[in-house]
Amino acid sequence: MIIFKSINKLKEKVNIMANVGFVPTMGSLHKGHISLIKNSKQKCTKTVVSIFVNPSQFNKSSDFRKYPRNLKNDLKILKKLKVDYLLIPSINDVYKTKKQMKIKINNKDKILCSKYRPGHFEGVLGVISVFLKNIKAKYIFLGNKDFQQIYLIKKYLGNKFKTSIVVCKTIRFKNSLAYSSRNKLLSKKNIKNGIMISNIIKKFHDLIFNDFSKINEIENIRYKISNICTRVEYLEIRNKKNLKQNINKNNFKIFVAYYLDNVRLIDNF
Ligand code: AMP
Repeated sequence: MIIFKSINKLKEKVNIMANVGFVPTMGSLHKGHISLIKNSKQKCTKTVVSIFVNPSQFNKSSDFRKYPRNLKNDLKILKKLKVDYLLIPSINDVYKTKKQMKIKINNKDKILCSKYRPGHFEGVLGVISVFLKNIKAKYIFLGNKDFQQIYLIKKYLGNKFKTSIVVCKTIRFKNSLAYSSRNKLLSKKNIKNGIMISNIIKKFHDLIFNDFSKINEIENIRYKISNICTRVEYLEIRNKKNLKQNINKNNFKIFVAYYLDNVRLIDNF
């Protein structure tokens, strides 16, 4: 595995290659990331992974500071997976092209995480935009766990780059709680609470799928999970094609964001 600290150096190496897969991450790698990388390795001749904890997508600086980082373990995982290229850019390297990063999100897209984390997706789209502008990958591999992120990347960046998006399924611990770097900040008890909440929402999803009138039970579900976690930030059912509220049995998706102590988790079912 070749490690690059500069986007320009990586560019020189990979932009002459035809079938490159790109997996952007914030590190602290887990089975979700590993599955993205395996997808890329299967589909592409060369795989680039990036590790960059992007400050502009954290709406609180304390959250940026305490975000889990574990480069030593990440390197072990990536070497074992035989990843070809790893990019670990500095903040200055990414932000030197500030102009590329100015992305404005419409008010009507300020829903779910975009509503509760002001500036978050502007930060995400900004950094993805810099990466895609520079790394001419054939595919970018993204996890369905961050459903709204994929929706906004497609909407705001989709026609700016030739890179195609490959959406990868959410990998779950015990078939329940989605793997997340933030899980490393959870106590054992809160891991159990997260598992319970995931199971409740998954069951609710299946209930609605079998009988759509059960959608009215959402307030009971909100009450149930609010008794397990510290705070439910949102629990909403939306149309998975356009994230609007016109839903039916075939197009609905449940979105949740909640806190376990001070750790914020998101998921969708
Ligand atoms: P992050 O490091 O959290 O920014 O995530 C990097 C990529 O991994 C994003 O495309 C995420 O959607 C994806 N990802 C995170 N968690 C999971 C998971 N449990 N299963 C599949 N993909 C995931």
